[in-house]
Amino acid sequence: MDNENATKITNPGRIEPALILEATKVFKWEGAHQLKDSHDEGCQRIHGHSYKMEVTVCSTEGVNEMGMVVDFKILKEIVEPIIKQFDHTFITAESFGSNPTAENMALYVMSEVGQALKVFSGLYCSKIRIWETDNCNVTVRYPKELPSNVYL
Ligand SMILES: [Zn+2]
Repeated sequence: MDNENATKITNPGRIEPALILEATKVFKWEGAHQLKDSHDEGCQRIHGHSYKMEVTVCSTEGVNEMGMVVDFKILKEIVEPIIKQFDHTFITAESFGSNPTAENMALYVMSEVGQALKVFSGLYCSKIRIWETDNCNVTVRYPKELPSNVYL
């Protein structure tokens, strides 16, 4: 619907190859973990974090018909079931399958979100950043050039 008061701009909806178009949504949860073989005695004890996580989705095909990389509601539907596995739980190396560091959790989330995005043409999970505290986070990301083994 045209609105004569709307600002007129030209937006091709496609992106130049040099541009990276990403959308990021933030998620939060509370959880406890215990790290094996940590140099920090505190990390070896059961302790908790107020986790914050940024999930970033990249589009190689510009925006969709709605002008979006991905509807944030869809991203929420993909990520919330993953977070439910962590929220208000106590995670150990035995229950998680590897030492439950933020790094390993980020790698797990990257894999799960990547799998879920395969049904969307041109979308992939380009970055997961997990904050354990206000000062400490880890990031797992794909480089600017998508590796050939990533299926789109
Ligand atoms: Zn910790």
